[in-house]
Amino acid sequence: MEAALRRLAAGNWKMNGLRADGVALARALATRAAAAPPPCELLICPPATLLMAVAEAIAGSGIELGGQDCHTSDKGAHTGDISAAMLRDSGCRYVILGHSERRTDHHESDALVREKAKAAHAAGLTAIVCIGETLAERQAGQTLAIVSRQLGGSLPEGLDSSTVCIAYEPVWAIGTGRTPTIAEVAAVHGHIRQALAARIADPGNVRILYGGSVKPDNAAALMAAGDVDGALIGGASLAAADFWAIAEACR
Ligand code: PEP
Repeated sequence: MEAALRRLAAGNWKMNGLRADGVALARALATRAAAAPPPCELLICPPATLLMAVAEAIAGSGIELGGQDCHTSDKGAHTGDISAAMLRDSGCRYVILGHSERRTDHHESDALVREKAKAAHAAGLTAIVCIGETLAERQAGQTLAIVSRQLGGSLPEGLDSSTVCIAYEPVWAIGTGRTPTIAEVAAVHGHIRQALAARIADPGNVRILYGGSVKPDNAAALMAAGDVDGALIGGASLAAADFWAIAEACR
């Protein structure tokens, strides 16, 4: 399905921002959203320390709030972790799961991501499940097999288009300034759409985001690729003007 869905521009702030910076960025986006209707659905995912302050800064703006990870349990003895229920309680509607930085830095497996997606669902959050191949896997011609394996392993039963989005993020494109060609993006997104049919009742309505070095100057071309329903944006989401320009391209 192409462009029938309301696109989503999701900003992943990662481990960036002290309170003053984060609130200023959130307020700048809220001010833009008040001046003109947002071009697409807008989501910002600040570090957990800023969730409450950012929630307050974007209140009433229509901009959504998300977490960057959650635990599989809703509470308990898990020092340093945060639960999906806590994210919901802080004003989140979304949570990013299985980002390649967590898969690498914290050795997160597909099975763990799947359990986290269940917890997110139980707490009423929409999970943005990240998948994508490494450079070595792409060069070995394994891209489609890898994303199929990650999808199959990371998605629990019982989700639908209102409770999950997929983010295709080639690991080698994240933070590098490199992107796949438009044809390569379209091929992977088309494959993901087909693979979703085995797992989700309404695969045509699931938003499949592209992530990896999305910038104001390449966003429109990337959004024109087939089956691209928005963007997951890292570095460029830290500047209000850049994030907004990408959101415009998601219109
Ligand atoms: C990301 O981390 O999800 C991401 C896409 O980062 P960047 O836009 O900086 O490549």
